[in-house]
Amino acid sequence: MELERALGLIAEVPDFPEPGVLFRDLSPLFADADGFRAVVDALAATVDPAVDLLAAVEARGFLLAAAVGYARGLGVVLVRKPGKLPSVAGRVDYALEYGTATLELPAGVVEPGRRAVVIDDVLATGGTVAAACELLEKAGAEVAGVSVVLELAALAGRSVLSGRTVRSLLAV
Ligand code: IMP
Repeated sequence: MELERALGLIAEVPDFPEPGVLFRDLSPLFADADGFRAVVDALAATVDPAVDLLAAVEARGFLLAAAVGYARGLGVVLVRKPGKLPSVAGRVDYALEYGTATLELPAGVVEPGRRAVVIDDVLATGGTVAAACELLEKAGAEVAGVSVVLELAALAGRSVLSGRTVRSLLAV
Protein backbone atom coordinates (compact mmCIF):
# COMPACT_ATOMS: atom_id res chain seq x y z
CA MET A 1 0.00 0.00 0.00
CA GLU A 2 1.31 3.44 -0.97
CA LEU A 3 0.80 5.07 2.44
CA GLU A 4 2.62 2.23 4.16
CA ARG A 5 5.51 2.50 1.70
CA ALA A 6 5.57 6.27 2.19
CA LEU A 7 5.75 6.02 5.96
CA GLY A 8 8.54 3.48 5.54
CA LEU A 9 10.63 6.25 3.95
CA ILE A 10 10.97 8.04 7.30
CA ALA A 11 14.61 7.66 8.32
CA GLU A 12 15.92 7.09 11.83
CA VAL A 13 18.95 9.17 12.80
CA PRO A 14 20.59 8.21 16.10
CA ASP A 15 22.06 10.86 18.39
CA PHE A 16 20.51 13.90 16.69
CA PRO A 17 20.23 16.70 17.70
CA GLU A 18 22.00 15.38 20.78
CA PRO A 19 23.32 12.06 22.11
CA GLY A 20 20.62 9.59 23.08
CA VAL A 21 17.89 11.09 20.85
CA LEU A 22 16.61 9.03 17.91
CA PHE A 23 15.54 11.65 15.37
CA ARG A 24 12.95 10.74 12.74
CA ASP A 25 13.84 12.45 9.46
CA LEU A 26 10.91 12.93 7.09
CA SER A 27 13.09 14.43 4.33
CA PRO A 28 13.16 11.24 2.20
CA LEU A 29 9.38 11.02 2.42
CA PHE A 30 8.88 14.66 1.42
CA ALA A 31 11.20 14.17 -1.56
CA ASP A 32 9.28 11.15 -2.88
CA ALA A 33 6.46 12.33 -5.16
CA ASP A 34 4.07 9.40 -4.63
CA GLY A 35 4.94 9.16 -0.95
CA PHE A 36 4.34 12.86 -0.36
CA ARG A 37 1.01 12.66 -2.18
CA ALA A 38 -0.07 9.60 -0.16
CA VAL A 39 0.75 11.30 3.13
CA VAL A 40 -0.97 14.56 2.15
CA ASP A 41 -4.07 12.65 1.01
CA ALA A 42 -4.15 10.68 4.27
CA LEU A 43 -3.70 13.81 6.38
CA ALA A 44 -6.38 15.62 4.36
CA ALA A 45 -8.77 12.75 5.13
CA THR A 46 -8.29 13.33 8.88
CA VAL A 47 -9.69 16.87 8.66
CA ASP A 48 -13.34 17.09 9.69
CA PRO A 49 -15.62 18.79 7.10
CA ALA A 50 -16.73 21.38 9.69
CA VAL A 51 -13.18 22.72 9.96
CA ASP A 52 -12.61 26.10 8.31
CA LEU A 53 -8.90 26.75 8.95
CA LEU A 54 -5.61 24.87 9.22
CA ALA A 55 -2.92 25.95 11.67
CA ALA A 56 0.57 24.99 10.56
CA VAL A 57 3.51 24.68 12.94
CA GLU A 58 6.85 26.01 11.63
CA ALA A 59 8.56 24.61 9.67
CA ARG A 60 7.60 21.17 8.38
CA GLY A 61 3.99 21.76 9.37
CA PHE A 62 3.96 24.55 6.76
CA LEU A 63 4.78 22.12 3.98
CA LEU A 64 2.11 19.65 5.01
CA ALA A 65 -0.63 22.16 5.84
CA ALA A 66 -0.13 24.03 2.56
CA ALA A 67 -0.72 20.85 0.59
CA VAL A 68 -3.64 19.71 2.77
CA GLY A 69 -5.18 23.18 2.60
CA TYR A 70 -4.96 23.17 -1.18
CA ALA A 71 -6.47 19.67 -1.34
CA ARG A 72 -9.32 20.52 1.02
CA GLY A 73 -9.95 24.11 -0.01
CA LEU A 74 -8.84 25.53 3.34
CA GLY A 75 -6.64 28.46 4.27
CA VAL A 76 -3.62 28.14 6.54
CA VAL A 77 -2.47 30.24 9.49
CA LEU A 78 1.27 30.02 10.11
CA VAL A 79 2.21 29.42 13.75
CA ARG A 80 5.73 30.80 13.82
CA LYS A 81 8.97 30.73 15.73
CA PRO A 82 9.74 34.06 17.42
CA GLY A 83 10.96 37.13 15.59
CA LYS A 84 9.40 36.36 12.20
CA LEU A 85 6.08 38.16 12.45
CA PRO A 86 5.62 41.93 12.10
CA SER A 87 2.59 41.86 14.37
CA VAL A 88 1.79 39.21 16.96
CA ALA A 89 -1.59 38.18 18.38
CA GLY A 90 -0.10 35.93 21.05
CA ARG A 91 3.05 34.19 22.22
CA VAL A 92 3.55 30.96 24.20
CA ASP A 93 6.78 29.61 25.71
CA TYR A 94 6.96 25.86 26.22
CA ALA A 95 9.32 22.97 27.01
CA LEU A 96 10.65 20.80 24.20
CA GLU A 97 11.97 17.22 24.15
CA TYR A 98 15.37 18.94 23.92
CA GLY A 99 15.37 22.53 25.20
CA THR A 100 12.74 25.28 25.27
CA ALA A 101 10.94 27.15 22.53
CA THR A 102 8.42 29.86 21.74
CA LEU A 103 5.63 30.04 19.19
CA GLU A 104 3.73 33.10 17.96
CA LEU A 105 0.45 33.64 16.17
CA PRO A 106 0.12 36.47 13.64
CA ALA A 107 -2.20 39.33 14.56
CA GLY A 108 -5.44 39.87 12.67
CA VAL A 109 -5.63 36.44 11.06
CA VAL A 110 -7.62 34.16 13.37
CA GLU A 111 -11.08 35.53 14.12
CA PRO A 112 -13.02 34.23 17.14
CA GLY A 113 -15.20 31.24 16.28
CA ARG A 114 -12.91 29.73 13.64
CA ARG A 115 -12.69 25.94 13.79
CA ALA A 116 -9.08 24.95 13.28
CA VAL A 117 -7.04 21.78 12.93
CA VAL A 118 -3.37 21.95 13.92
CA ILE A 119 -1.00 20.25 11.47
CA ASP A 120 2.58 19.21 12.17
CA ASP A 121 4.96 16.48 11.07
CA VAL A 122 5.88 14.82 14.38
CA LEU A 123 4.16 14.65 17.76
CA ALA A 124 6.81 13.98 20.40
CA THR A 125 6.26 15.31 23.95
CA GLY A 126 3.24 17.30 22.72
CA GLY A 127 4.55 20.67 23.92
CA THR A 128 4.70 22.22 20.46
CA VAL A 129 1.20 21.27 19.42
CA ALA A 130 -0.17 22.16 22.86
CA ALA A 131 1.37 25.63 22.49
CA ALA A 132 -0.21 26.03 19.04
CA CYS A 133 -3.61 24.98 20.45
CA GLU A 134 -3.25 27.47 23.31
CA LEU A 135 -2.46 30.30 20.89
CA LEU A 136 -5.48 29.50 18.75
CA GLU A 137 -7.80 29.28 21.74
CA LYS A 138 -6.49 32.56 23.19
CA ALA A 139 -7.43 34.12 19.84
CA GLY A 140 -10.96 32.75 20.26
CA ALA A 141 -10.70 29.86 17.83
CA GLU A 142 -11.90 26.35 18.54
CA VAL A 143 -9.34 23.56 18.07
CA ALA A 144 -11.24 20.78 16.33
CA GLY A 145 -8.26 18.44 16.25
CA VAL A 146 -4.60 17.80 15.76
CA SER A 147 -3.25 15.86 12.76
CA VAL A 148 0.34 14.69 12.44
CA VAL A 149 2.24 12.25 10.27
CA LEU A 150 4.21 10.54 13.01
CA GLU A 151 3.54 10.12 16.72
CA LEU A 152 6.35 9.07 19.04
CA ALA A 153 4.14 7.19 21.47
CA ALA A 154 6.81 6.67 24.12
CA LEU A 155 6.99 10.45 24.65
CA ALA A 156 3.27 10.52 25.53
CA GLY A 157 2.31 13.66 23.61
CA ARG A 158 -1.27 12.46 23.63
CA SER A 159 -1.47 12.75 27.41
CA VAL A 160 -0.41 16.42 27.22
CA LEU A 161 -3.20 16.86 24.66
CA SER A 162 -5.79 14.92 26.64
CA GLY A 163 -9.31 15.87 25.70
CA ARG A 164 -8.24 16.80 22.18
CA THR A 165 -8.78 14.74 19.05
CA VAL A 166 -5.31 13.64 17.93
CA ARG A 167 -4.87 11.81 14.65
CA SER A 168 -1.54 10.37 13.53
CA LEU A 169 -0.86 8.40 10.37
CA LEU A 170 1.73 6.29 12.20
CA ALA A 171 2.53 5.76 15.88
CA VAL A 172 5.88 4.23 16.81
P1 IMP B 1 7.22 18.06 20.88
O1 IMP B 1 6.91 19.48 21.23
O2 IMP B 1 8.13 17.41 21.86
O3 IMP B 1 5.97 17.25 20.62
O4 IMP B 1 8.06 18.09 19.54
C1 IMP B 1 7.44 18.22 18.33
C2 IMP B 1 8.14 19.24 17.48
O5 IMP B 1 9.53 18.97 17.41
C3 IMP B 1 7.58 19.18 16.07
O6 IMP B 1 7.42 20.49 15.56
C4 IMP B 1 8.59 18.39 15.31
O7 IMP B 1 8.83 18.94 14.05
C5 IMP B 1 9.85 18.41 16.17
N1 IMP B 1 10.37 17.05 16.43
C6 IMP B 1 10.50 16.43 17.61
N2 IMP B 1 11.04 15.21 17.46
C7 IMP B 1 11.24 15.07 16.14
C8 IMP B 1 11.79 14.02 15.33
O8 IMP B 1 12.20 12.93 15.78
N3 IMP B 1 11.82 14.25 14.00
C9 IMP B 1 11.37 15.41 13.45
N4 IMP B 1 10.87 16.39 14.16
C10 IMP B 1 10.82 16.24 15.50
